[in-house]
Amino acid sequence: MTTRAQILARQEMLTQRVAEVFDEFGGRAGAARIAEVLTSRGLPTNKQAVRLAMRKHGLRAARLPLPREELTERVIATFHTQRGEFGARRVAIELARDGVPVSEATVANILRERGLRAQHYRGPGTGPTQHGPVRLTSNPLQRVGAWALMVLAGVDDPGRGPESLTPAEVDTAVAVMSTDVADTADMQDTKAPGSFWLAASYLLWPNSPMNHAGRTKIPPAQRRQRIQRWRTYPTGSIGVPCSLCGLDACGWYGKVDIPLGAPIHHHNTTPPGHQGQPLCPGCLASLHALPYGCHISPTAYALHSWDDHFLRRAVTQQVGQTREQAQASGPLKAPGRGAREAAALGVIARHDQPFTSDVELIGFSNNNRDPYLRTWALAQPLAEWLRCTLRDPRSAATLDQLAHMIATPESNANTLAWLAFRAPDRILTAAAGRLGAIGLGNEIDARTTAELAGLCISLARVL
Ligand SMILES: [Zn+2]
Repeated sequence: MTTRAQILARQEMLTQRVAEVFDEFGGRAGAARIAEVLTSRGLPTNKQAVRLAMRKHGLRAARLPLPREELTERVIATFHTQRGEFGARRVAIELARDGVPVSEATVANILRERGLRAQHYRGPGTGPTQHGPVRLTSNPLQRVGAWALMVLAGVDDPGRGPESLTPAEVDTAVAVMSTDVADTADMQDTKAPGSFWLAASYLLWPNSPMNHAGRTKIPPAQRRQRIQRWRTYPTGSIGVPCSLCGLDACGWYGKVDIPLGAPIHHHNTTPPGHQGQPLCPGCLASLHALPYGCHISPTAYALHSWDDHFLRRAVTQQVGQTREQAQASGPLKAPGRGAREAAALGVIARHDQPFTSDVELIGFSNNNRDPYLRTWALAQPLAEWLRCTLRDPRSAATLDQLAHMIATPESNANTLAWLAFRAPDRILTAAAGRLGAIGLGNEIDARTTAELAGLCISLARVL
């Protein structure tokens, strides 16, 4: 026999469970759906009872954009269209693009009910993995681009790296880049205000729809369309692994997208029938983001290190500067001799952790007429010595004196920075010559001379 107390207790429990299921479905489940779920979980009930419980809690289900059955079908279709690589968030984005605004929670519930889980991208033979679309590879330029993607995606979490980027975050970064390049469609030429990316395109993306020879013969709207089409990434797989990271490639790419990569019809350097390099969307986005992590002049300069803490800092600073440069416009000017190296020492000085790897300065141009790639490396012990020296005000002042002492007319005070990346032992040779020339017996200079000599001895230990 059921007592009144038992009925009340059951009603109380039902009310509680209804609220839990309501929350679990992110407020998108109505009374009928909740009744169905509770019944399947061993608490038989009906729509009316659930509706009463919902009223008691003041719960009202948000409207679904489509009848539930139809929405379920759309979610499953979108999931399968992407070969199961899309998670709930990405499926929700795709549906919103198709005019069906639906929350990530609702999509997640539908996928869970149907036992569907995103497979994410797979490397060859690695099985299912949990990573997102971007991987850090052994290619320094791709690595710089991958870290630049983080900044463009607006991710500012020191605990995260590019491999943690979600598809939606990569989409955000790609949209920022696409807008920057598409906006050049309205510009007459590289002298127009704000034409930074148009001018830079000859250096970075020659033969692209941004600067194609027939550019001026077509109206701006059509130029924009062509640029946007170029920057719309294929979503399917071409059935081969990415040449950089091994994930599924989405297409074949060449010089237009890969700095110094051989394109299909570029001069006679590509074997007939060669289609370029297969790239995945993550590597393609990273290479498109690379210029943001570079100082852009008639040559692009990137600072790279296998020390990811440093690379994050260096790229983050550079992306900010490059975007400012893009706003300021003006012609691309070549930096003075040693200016890029001096700027690199500035970044090194601001780094607050010991270096675990060398620091490289990479200069490149993808220009049709004068393609160029060169790397200068600062060995880890020297990088760490410079970091420590520059962070201590007293030794930094002595180093500054040393820099002025060995300055040459070509690069002035940047001579030391220039030599540090090319021939650091010449810093010592030059210093020894100058120190010897300082007048002996000059009491004012004696202390300075001793400090300079001490600094040189400490430098000699790391060379
Ligand atoms: Zn890749």
